[in-house]
Amino acid sequence: MDCIFCKIVQGEIPSAKVYEDDKVYAFNDISPAAPTHVLIIPKEHISSALEVDEKNSSLIGHIFTVANKIARDLGIDKTGFRIVNNCGEDGGQTVHHIHFHLLGGRSLQWPPG
Ligand code: AMP
Ligand code: ZN
Repeated sequence: MDCIFCKIVQGEIPSAKVYEDDKVYAFNDISPAAPTHVLIIPKEHISSALEVDEKNSSLIGHIFTVANKIARDLGIDKTGFRIVNNCGEDGGQTVHHIHFHLLGGRSLQWPPG
Protein backbone atom coordinates (compact mmCIF):
# COMPACT_ATOMS: atom_id res chain seq x y z
CA MET A 1 0.00 0.00 0.00
CA ASP A 2 1.35 3.40 -0.96
CA CYS A 3 0.90 5.09 2.42
CA ILE A 4 3.49 7.56 3.73
CA PHE A 5 2.73 6.80 7.39
CA CYS A 6 2.94 3.00 6.84
CA LYS A 7 6.35 3.70 5.29
CA ILE A 8 7.35 5.74 8.35
CA VAL A 9 6.28 2.86 10.65
CA GLN A 10 8.36 0.46 8.52
CA GLY A 11 11.38 2.78 8.59
CA GLU A 12 11.32 3.30 4.81
CA ILE A 13 10.85 7.04 5.32
CA PRO A 14 12.86 8.69 8.13
CA SER A 15 11.12 10.29 11.08
CA ALA A 16 12.01 11.80 14.45
CA LYS A 17 10.65 9.13 16.80
CA VAL A 18 9.11 10.27 20.06
CA TYR A 19 7.53 6.99 21.23
CA GLU A 20 7.00 3.44 20.02
CA ASP A 21 5.38 0.27 21.28
CA ASP A 22 3.98 -2.81 19.57
CA LYS A 23 0.81 -1.03 18.46
CA VAL A 24 1.63 2.68 18.21
CA TYR A 25 4.29 4.97 16.73
CA ALA A 26 4.73 8.69 17.46
CA PHE A 27 7.02 11.19 15.73
CA ASN A 28 7.51 14.91 15.32
CA ASP A 29 5.42 16.59 12.65
CA ILE A 30 7.64 17.70 9.76
CA SER A 31 5.86 21.06 9.64
CA PRO A 32 5.16 21.93 13.28
CA ALA A 33 2.20 24.18 14.06
CA ALA A 34 3.24 24.60 17.71
CA PRO A 35 6.43 24.22 19.79
CA THR A 36 5.29 20.66 20.52
CA HIS A 37 3.65 18.95 17.55
CA VAL A 38 3.74 15.17 17.66
CA LEU A 39 1.79 12.80 15.42
CA ILE A 40 0.55 9.60 17.07
CA ILE A 41 -0.47 6.79 14.75
CA PRO A 42 -1.46 3.14 14.99
CA LYS A 43 1.03 0.81 13.28
CA GLU A 44 -1.96 -0.88 11.67
CA HIS A 45 -3.29 1.02 8.64
CA ILE A 46 -6.63 2.59 9.50
CA SER A 47 -7.63 5.22 6.92
CA SER A 48 -9.57 7.67 9.06
CA ALA A 49 -11.87 8.13 12.03
CA LEU A 50 -14.62 6.72 9.82
CA GLU A 51 -12.87 3.34 9.94
CA VAL A 52 -12.92 3.14 13.75
CA ASP A 53 -15.25 0.36 14.87
CA GLU A 54 -15.81 -2.03 17.77
CA LYS A 55 -12.92 -4.23 16.62
CA ASN A 56 -10.20 -1.56 16.66
CA SER A 57 -11.56 1.04 19.08
CA SER A 58 -9.39 -0.16 22.00
CA LEU A 59 -6.41 0.95 19.93
CA ILE A 60 -7.78 4.48 19.87
CA GLY A 61 -8.11 4.42 23.67
CA HIS A 62 -4.52 3.22 23.85
CA ILE A 63 -3.43 6.14 21.63
CA PHE A 64 -4.90 8.55 24.19
CA THR A 65 -2.93 6.92 27.01
CA VAL A 66 0.19 7.29 24.85
CA ALA A 67 -0.70 10.96 24.23
CA ASN A 68 -0.89 11.49 28.00
CA LYS A 69 2.49 9.88 28.52
CA ILE A 70 4.10 11.96 25.76
CA ALA A 71 2.51 15.16 27.11
CA ARG A 72 4.02 14.43 30.53
CA ASP A 73 7.40 13.45 29.10
CA LEU A 74 7.56 16.66 27.01
CA GLY A 75 6.37 18.82 29.92
CA ILE A 76 3.14 20.16 28.45
CA ASP A 77 0.83 18.34 30.86
CA LYS A 78 0.64 21.30 33.26
CA THR A 79 0.26 24.02 30.64
CA GLY A 80 -2.23 22.05 28.55
CA PHE A 81 -2.41 20.68 25.06
CA ARG A 82 -4.76 19.71 22.26
CA ILE A 83 -5.30 16.33 20.60
CA VAL A 84 -6.64 16.75 17.06
CA ASN A 85 -7.90 14.28 14.50
CA ASN A 86 -8.76 15.62 11.06
CA CYS A 87 -11.17 13.50 9.02
CA GLY A 88 -11.94 13.89 5.34
CA GLU A 89 -11.67 16.84 3.02
CA ASP A 90 -13.52 19.45 5.07
CA GLY A 91 -11.72 18.21 8.18
CA GLY A 92 -8.39 18.96 6.52
CA GLN A 93 -7.11 15.38 6.43
CA THR A 94 -4.16 15.18 4.02
CA VAL A 95 -2.68 11.81 5.02
CA HIS A 96 -5.11 8.92 4.85
CA HIS A 97 -3.69 6.88 7.72
CA ILE A 98 -5.44 7.88 10.94
CA HIS A 99 -3.29 10.14 13.12
CA PHE A 100 -3.70 12.29 16.19
CA HIS A 101 -1.90 15.61 16.43
CA LEU A 102 -0.61 16.37 19.94
CA LEU A 103 -0.14 20.14 20.06
CA GLY A 104 1.17 22.25 22.90
CA GLY A 105 3.78 24.67 24.14
CA ARG A 106 1.77 27.79 23.30
CA SER A 107 -1.75 29.09 23.80
CA LEU A 108 -3.93 27.58 21.07
CA GLN A 109 -6.83 29.50 19.58
CA TRP A 110 -10.41 28.27 19.35
CA PRO A 111 -12.24 27.74 17.07
CA PRO A 112 -9.73 26.58 14.45
CA GLY A 113 -9.86 28.32 11.08
P1 AMP B 1 -3.49 16.07 8.43
O1 AMP B 1 -3.52 17.35 7.63
O2 AMP B 1 -4.34 16.08 9.65
O3 AMP B 1 -3.75 14.88 7.54
O4 AMP B 1 -2.01 15.96 8.98
C1 AMP B 1 -0.95 15.42 8.28
C2 AMP B 1 0.29 15.89 8.95
O5 AMP B 1 1.37 15.07 8.54
C3 AMP B 1 0.69 17.34 8.62
O6 AMP B 1 0.73 18.11 9.82
C4 AMP B 1 2.06 17.19 7.96
O7 AMP B 1 2.93 18.24 8.31
C5 AMP B 1 2.53 15.85 8.50
N1 AMP B 1 3.49 15.14 7.68
C6 AMP B 1 3.39 14.86 6.37
N2 AMP B 1 4.46 14.16 5.96
C7 AMP B 1 5.25 13.98 7.05
C8 AMP B 1 6.51 13.32 7.29
N3 AMP B 1 7.17 12.71 6.31
N4 AMP B 1 7.02 13.36 8.54
C9 AMP B 1 6.36 13.99 9.53
N5 AMP B 1 5.18 14.60 9.38
C10 AMP B 1 4.63 14.60 8.16
ZN1 ZN C 1 -0.88 3.56 6.32
